[in-house]
Amino acid sequence: MRIDIISVVPELLDSPLSHSIVGRARRKGLVEIEVHNLREYGLGPRRNVDDYSYGGDAGMVMMVEPVFNIIRDLKAQREYDEVIYMSPDGEILDQAISNELSLKKNIIILCGHYKGIDHRIREHLVTREISIGNYVVSGGEIPAAILADSLVRLIPGALTDETSALSDSFQDGLLSAPVYTRPAEFNGWKVPEVLLSGNPKLIQAWQDEQALERTRALRPELLK
Ligand code: SAH
Repeated sequence: MRIDIISVVPELLDSPLSHSIVGRARRKGLVEIEVHNLREYGLGPRRNVDDYSYGGDAGMVMMVEPVFNIIRDLKAQREYDEVIYMSPDGEILDQAISNELSLKKNIIILCGHYKGIDHRIREHLVTREISIGNYVVSGGEIPAAILADSLVRLIPGALTDETSALSDSFQDGLLSAPVYTRPAEFNGWKVPEVLLSGNPKLIQAWQDEQALERTRALRPELLK
């Protein structure tokens, strides 16, 4: 899989995409992630990427031309399955969307800034718009990092124990069962007995039951 991310603040993506599971997956060659600085496509001697909004709303808007040009250049190098714009009014990201997108070969993720991007980009170039939730953050970079992370951890080999993505919350429509590690007792707080039994069948049955119970209690709408 290859992910090209377009941003005006590429520094914001350095750390989240360089460490831990995503960083390791990149170093192992499981995923190629390129972050592009849109400013390199900026216009004029000052490499402008934004301008005042028509209608006089407060705030700057990212211009069509730099975004058009960078997407054109990327598309000249390979075919893309999706051009995704991170946007608070997009479809809200969930595990089903991540599962689907993790099967794609090449995707572009476009990060907005300021008041957002000129709407013509959304009408003519963007194929999909994704939100990380019903709230506004300052730029598309953190949302893009969240999306990229959720995709990369699904690539076979990205997680050290490959089955562990399957037992994550939402993967089977349920929340995950509680997890514990040593010691078996701390401060009088005990790990559930069944987990110490060494009986995989019993443990699995307990985890299934816990997953169902927690989903019913915390997120009943997931069971519909
Ligand atoms: N004026 C816009 C918000 C702009 S915030 C509006 O009201 O819809 C600047 C950028 O941050 C956006 O272009 C988008 O790329 C990103 N962004 C902000 N909140 C987001 C969210 N919840 N999900 C995904 N991207 C978001």
